[in-house]
Amino acid sequence: MVVTITSYNPADPADLVVAVEEPGAEAVRAAVARARAAQPGWLAAGAGARSAALGRLAEAVEAHADELAGLIVREVGKPLAEARGEVARTAAIWRYYAQAPFAPSGAVHETAAGPGLLLTRRRPYGVAGLIAPWNFPLAIPTWKAAPALAVGNTAVLKPAPEATACALRLAELAAGAGLSEDVFTVLPGGAEEGAALVDTVDVVSFTGSTGVGRAVVRAATERGVPVQAELGGLNAALVLPDADLGQAAAHLAAAIAGYAGQKCTATSRVIAVGAAYEPLRDALVKALELVDDTVCGPVINAAARDRLTAAVDSAVAAGATLLTGGRAPERDGWYLEPALLTDVPAEHPLAREEFFGPIALLHAAADLDEAIALANDTPHSLSTSVHSRSLDVALAAADRLDAGMIRVNAPSSGVDFHLPFGGAKGAAHGEREQGQAALDFYTVSRTVSLLPGGGA
Ligand code: NAD
Repeated sequence: MVVTITSYNPADPADLVVAVEEPGAEAVRAAVARARAAQPGWLAAGAGARSAALGRLAEAVEAHADELAGLIVREVGKPLAEARGEVARTAAIWRYYAQAPFAPSGAVHETAAGPGLLLTRRRPYGVAGLIAPWNFPLAIPTWKAAPALAVGNTAVLKPAPEATACALRLAELAAGAGLSEDVFTVLPGGAEEGAALVDTVDVVSFTGSTGVGRAVVRAATERGVPVQAELGGLNAALVLPDADLGQAAAHLAAAIAGYAGQKCTATSRVIAVGAAYEPLRDALVKALELVDDTVCGPVINAAARDRLTAAVDSAVAAGATLLTGGRAPERDGWYLEPALLTDVPAEHPLAREEFFGPIALLHAAADLDEAIALANDTPHSLSTSVHSRSLDVALAAADRLDAGMIRVNAPSSGVDFHLPFGGAKGAAHGEREQGQAALDFYTVSRTVSLLPGGGA
């Protein structure tokens, strides 16, 4: 039976963006075999050739910025300003890693005995298998592929089905920039292709939901290949009474409702400390009610919208108060009004699991200690924001919050492409993505002893 991968425009569900035949596991194995055959040549081509190809791809992304932003808007429903930002970041990441082939790949040490030299040298693994989610359809594939390719691996990317068209367009631009199809392969598919990739490649990088990510980590570990996984978040924002509450409310509205909350770094839990509670609650309700399509946009599909409205309804049935939003408006597209709830029971799924939508829970904390304890009471610790004018609070947050990313006086969402990125506790596994950390992840260190030939 031929299975077709389809992706539809979330703002206009009648608009079919792409339909391609699902390639199946055998096609994955064949693609990995071609990538493995191409890898020695890609490495031997040298730092200059790898740098030039990555640099040309950065230029191609910039030259097609409007088209790519339009495709992101159409395929995954991202608001235009954010889509433009993602394209700019994509170009910046290719350009940043275009410099990496020239960076030192090891160090020189003295031998303990005296004569000779000891070297460490980082070498690529071979074929990198990259599995991506749909919510950053160009940036996430790029922040995986660019470092993997820079250090001399070849790469096979399996995008999320919902982001197939964006990934295929990236592959076309890459081929035009000199990254041949076997050096950088994009293979559409779903769970079957993803699992086959994990089963065949030499190093695995996964971003996606917690359940799938844990299965990928188990499978890769079983095979003994290195694996990193960046998973879901249930991110908190702590607001202290001394914060600029107007600014905090604006940051929180952006972090809750921006791209309909479909970022792993979106804020899901707002923790207001002491006297901040009432003024923040009122300012945040107002800010969320002002959010429009230029900020929020639709959720990815009908199933997501129905799951989110059902979760809000069940929380209210369990005793929560809905302060604003939570309804699916009567219009085309998979929209949901940004929602703020209080008094959600601690055991309710909205309080325990990532829900990936424009919804936040408001909690009160008596003091900073209670706020930090509440923020840390989750395994999904990706990004936490802290809003305060006090340096003591900022330092306490940096020391005591269990989160991969801590952002003071900034929304929890927002990432600098050149620094390590990832979660803490159950939100991540393995080495960080981005920056130097990614170059380390895609290489293995060898220790080389060079001793004088005379037997000294
Ligand atoms: P998902 O887990 O459903 O899918 C992610 C990828 O895994 C897709 O390419 C999918 O086809 C593939 N896949 C599915 N089953 C597989 C299997 N058995 N073996 C191998 N691959 C398989 O996630 P999604 O809905 O595409 O994306 C949203 C999720 O991604 C959210 O949970 C979000 O928090 C997370 N996310 C995390 C980060 C981060 O850096 N921490 C960044 C963005 C998104």
